[in-house]
Amino acid sequence: MIDLSVRSKARVWLGTLAGTLLCIGAALFVDSFNFPNLSPAALRRAITVDILLPTVLAGPLLFLLLGKVRQLAIAHQELAVLASTDSLTGLLNRGAFTMLVESWFGPVNGAGATRQGTLLIVDADHFKSINDRFGHQIGDAALKRVAASIKGALRPTDLVGRIGGEEFGVFLPGASRAQGVEVGERIRTLVQSLPLPSTGGTRLTVSVGGVSFRQCASYDDLFKAADRCLYEAKNAGRDRVCVMDYIGKSAAA
Ligand code: GH3
Ligand code: MG
Ligand code: MG
Repeated sequence: MIDLSVRSKARVWLGTLAGTLLCIGAALFVDSFNFPNLSPAALRRAITVDILLPTVLAGPLLFLLLGKVRQLAIAHQELAVLASTDSLTGLLNRGAFTMLVESWFGPVNGAGATRQGTLLIVDADHFKSINDRFGHQIGDAALKRVAASIKGALRPTDLVGRIGGEEFGVFLPGASRAQGVEVGERIRTLVQSLPLPSTGGTRLTVSVGGVSFRQCASYDDLFKAADRCLYEAKNAGRDRVCVMDYIGKSAAA
C-alpha cells in the first residue's frame, strides 16, 4: 500500500510536469505564427508569457486534478481490501475466498487440465460452549488463534478464508490427499497446542473435513463433499481430520 502510494505520488508530479510542458509547447506553437512579425523585445515578452501563463495556470490545476485522481485510486484499493477481508481475523471473507477458489478452477477446467488440489473445511469444536463459559471476547480471541494457526500451517500460495462463524476454508492448490491430511493434522495440532488465555487452561480443538480432487470439479460440489467429511469427523468424536478423494458429484463421505 505504502509502495503504491509513493509511486502514485511520483506519478502526480510527473503528470503535472509533462502536462505543463505540453501546455507550454502548445502555447509556443500557436503563438509562433506571430513571432516573425514581432520586434525582439515583443518576441521576448511573448515567449515569457507563453511559458509563464501555462506554468502558473495549468501546473497547479493539473497537480490538483491528478492528486484527486490518486486519492480516489487509493480509496478504491482500500475499499477493495476491506470488502474482501474478514474484520475479526484479517483472513479473506467468505465471498472473496469463494471467488478466488472459483477463479482458480475457471482456467483449469476450461483448458481441460487435470491439476490436483485439496479443499479443507476447519470447524472449531463445541465453540458455542467457549462463548457460553468464557464470554464472547474470549471466543473472538480463540477465533483469531485458530486463524493464526491455520495461516502458520500453510504455504504462501494456499488460500484461507473465514467462511462462517467458527468455520474456515482452506484451499491447497496442487496438494494430494496425503498432503491435505498432513496440513489438516498440522492445523489441528497447532490449534490445540496452546491453552486459551484466561480460561484456566482450556484448549480448543478443531475438526477438519476435506476433499482431494484430480479432475474438473465445481467449487460447490467440492464444498459439499468436504462438508460431508467434516460431518464424519464430528460424528467420530471431533478433534480429527477426515479427507476423502473426490469421485464425482456422488462422492461418498
Ligand atoms: P460443533 O462442534 O458441532 O461445531 O459445535 P459448535 O458449538 O462449534 O457449533 P455451533 O454451530 O452449535 O455453534 C457455533 C458457535 O459459534 C455459535 C456462535 O455463537 C459462535 N460464533 C459464531 N461467530 C462468532 C464470532 O464471530 N465470535 C464469537 N465469539 N463466536 C461466534
Ligand atoms: Mg463448530
Ligand atoms: Mg460450524
